Amino acid sequence: MSDSINISEIFAENVFNDAVMKERLPKDVYNKLRNTIDFGVELDPAVANVIANVMKDWAIGKGATHYTHWFQPMTGITAEKHDSFISAPKEDGRVLMEFSGKELIKGEPDASSFPSGGLRATFEARGYTAWDCTSPAFIKENAAGATLCIPTAFCSYTGEALDNKTPLLRSMEAVNTQALRILKLFGNTTSKRVIPSVGAEQEYFLVDREKYLQRKDLIFTGRTLFGAMPPKGQELEDHYFGSIRERVAVFMREVNEELWKLGVSAKTQHNEAAPAQHELAPIYAQVNVAVDHNQLVMETLKKVAGHHGLTCLLHEKPFSGVNGSGKHNNWSLTTDDGINMLEPGKKPHENTQFLLVLSAIIKAVDTHADLLRESAANVGNDLRLGSNEAPPAIISIFLGAQLEDLLNQIATTGSVTNTMQRERLNTGVSTLPELKKDASDRNRTSPFAFTGNKFEFRMVGSSASISSPNVVLNTIVAEAFDEIATRLENCSDFEQEVMLIIQEIIKKHSRIIFNGNGYSNEWVEEAARRGLPNLPTMVDSIPALITDKAIKLFEKFGVFTKTELESRAEIQYEAYTKAINIEARAMVEIASKHIIPAVIRYTTALADSINSVTAAGCDASTQKEILDSVTIYLRNAKEAMAKLVSNLEYAKSIADAKQKAIYFKDNIATTMVELRKPCDELEMLVDKTLWPFPSYGDLIFEL
Ligand code: ADP
Ligand code: MG
Repeated sequence: MSDSINISEIFAENVFNDAVMKERLPKDVYNKLRNTIDFGVELDPAVANVIANVMKDWAIGKGATHYTHWFQPMTGITAEKHDSFISAPKEDGRVLMEFSGKELIKGEPDASSFPSGGLRATFEARGYTAWDCTSPAFIKENAAGATLCIPTAFCSYTGEALDNKTPLLRSMEAVNTQALRILKLFGNTTSKRVIPSVGAEQEYFLVDREKYLQRKDLIFTGRTLFGAMPPKGQELEDHYFGSIRERVAVFMREVNEELWKLGVSAKTQHNEAAPAQHELAPIYAQVNVAVDHNQLVMETLKKVAGHHGLTCLLHEKPFSGVNGSGKHNNWSLTTDDGINMLEPGKKPHENTQFLLVLSAIIKAVDTHADLLRESAANVGNDLRLGSNEAPPAIISIFLGAQLEDLLNQIATTGSVTNTMQRERLNTGVSTLPELKKDASDRNRTSPFAFTGNKFEFRMVGSSASISSPNVVLNTIVAEAFDEIATRLENCSDFEQEVMLIIQEIIKKHSRIIFNGNGYSNEWVEEAARRGLPNLPTMVDSIPALITDKAIKLFEKFGVFTKTELESRAEIQYEAYTKAINIEARAMVEIASKHIIPAVIRYTTALADSINSVTAAGCDASTQKEILDSVTIYLRNAKEAMAKLVSNLEYAKSIADAKQKAIYFKDNIATTMVELRKPCDELEMLVDKTLWPFPSYGDLIFEL
């Protein structure tokens, strides 16, 4: 690592971006490629050969020896298969560096080892990766050297999407087409494209690597399966935005440097609410690039942590009883000429286009709340949603007082005349600058909050790809725009029809708007009265993918076929079962091989002590009491473990993926809680020097 970092010098130095392409590609080739990137014009194969050659020379100049199609299968992470650039040796024994257009645009990884949710059984195992020229290629450096990574989509022999990228690109097209109709209706003749912009704030934990290696639960599952709360938690709020520890600061510096080289505009970093928890946020980018970048952020955090004797935990709930980690997905719609359709402007009451867009989003989110919730479902998030600082599993929208007032004016009078004014902030100190307050306060408890000129979807889990939530957002908003545009294109009085549409939406969908405390029990009851879906677990939410409503939506906009949706539901059920199965088996192993033997050593020591104390003629009743309580917890642990083992055995007999997942949720996950409880009690009683692994206190307070 260099001593001082010159950001502008290193930024995107490993990215084959527009500037590099403009400089290195022949002008006509560059123009053709831009036409493909910007307007979806099909790429001429002859052009691909030229681009491949230029890309190869650029990559070799940067030290790359290999290239890979970099894709995002439904494991939620990325996959790569490296090939070196060398060609077969010539007659004189020399090798050349080769990379053809064909190799650039198409790859054929065997699809059979990636999740396909039954698509594989019906179709051949062959899979294809296809160059996604809308996301720039980049060079990844690691201990093995440098590799040219080419972002690609991944699909089956018959064209079904097997990845998180293909549906995202499809959903971008859908929202682009429908949003352009809305813009046109408002007289916009200049914008040619509408692109979702996304900034994903990434939360994560750092723990000492040596201690991590002593925790089999962290190694196998990414979270602690046992662990009593330390005497101090996060109640003092002394970690949030606290000054960053030296060791962590050095780590963050290297993370930033690596990310900047990859063109990821890492911008904000701070300590989060829980001890040992941190956050990194980039500047927003167009959604497909943001999805790639978030994968690179997660990968870089993990890799760089290792350089500093640390391990990065991306799990949604690594420590029970302590804040979990999420990924705030900030979403807006931006035109190619820089208009943000979610920008209210200085006088939002005069900005009917904004008010209509806002209403469309309200309609979309209320109509498909179940789908949006499903898009944030993963196994880890089940432990986070609804507990300690996480948004509840109920979707609602926070608008803030100002916007709600505007919509209410329309709802009650059919027109809108004024905007609630922003007030001055009174600090009572004359030397402080005069600040204007924002139009409304923030609401940290809302899962879907309007924050100035974007919506922030906070339900997404920290380890998840942000693809699914954005596929859903893009598509549901496309549907609302489509319906609204169709009405407006066929009406006689445009202004009046706009107001009428907003009025109707508020009447029908205002139940989704909630500005109160989303963490309270009253809200759960109130949401039920309003008829809002409450899908507490991943298994509860998966059916949302394959309702008639969802199939109709996704098929209409060409984002998913029914078959693809069914396969995705299947994959989700399987992912749930597999993850809980691993967790349960890890618990059994840790309890039987580590915790119970440690407790037995302790009870032996206690029994010895009772004998010695009694032999000395003293009263050993206190020692006996301790031995009694330890023995009771030991028995409870042993019984819960036996139940878990037998449930796991029974689960093997369930064939149907959905039924199996339900069994794991209702019978295995619950028994895991039963096993954990006495073990955590034992941790509080047993001699610390005998306890087989580092405690919560050791992990989160001693870095
Ligand atoms: P906060 O969550 O405190 O509001 P910021 O305003 O800094 O934090 O934004 C958080 C994330 O939202 C950042 O990644 C930022 O780039 C992104 N963001 C800001 N404006 C937009 C926008 N118009 N569309 C999408 N993302 C945005
Ligand atoms: Mg935020």
